[in-house]
Amino acid sequence: MKITQEREKCIGCGTCVAVCPDFWVMNEDGKADLKGAKDVGNGIFELEVDDVGCNKDVVSACPVQIIHVK
Ligand code: SF4
Repeated sequence: MKITQEREKCIGCGTCVAVCPDFWVMNEDGKADLKGAKDVGNGIFELEVDDVGCNKDVVSACPVQIIHVK
């Protein structure tokens, strides 16, 4: 499965970090980082995982809906 973050659009609310700290951390630039994710261009970061774990909850929790799991 793949987790995608449209990082350019992150407003830095910290919700993903609060809900799912195993996968998310705040960066000093004020946006959230998906740990270990690859920059695939256009401000988008992707991470391949076997188990999405708590990211199931992050998708709906992100207020600007920039996190996707498929
Ligand atoms: S929940 Fe969404 S907007 Fe908030 S810090 Fe995480 S990625 Fe950014």
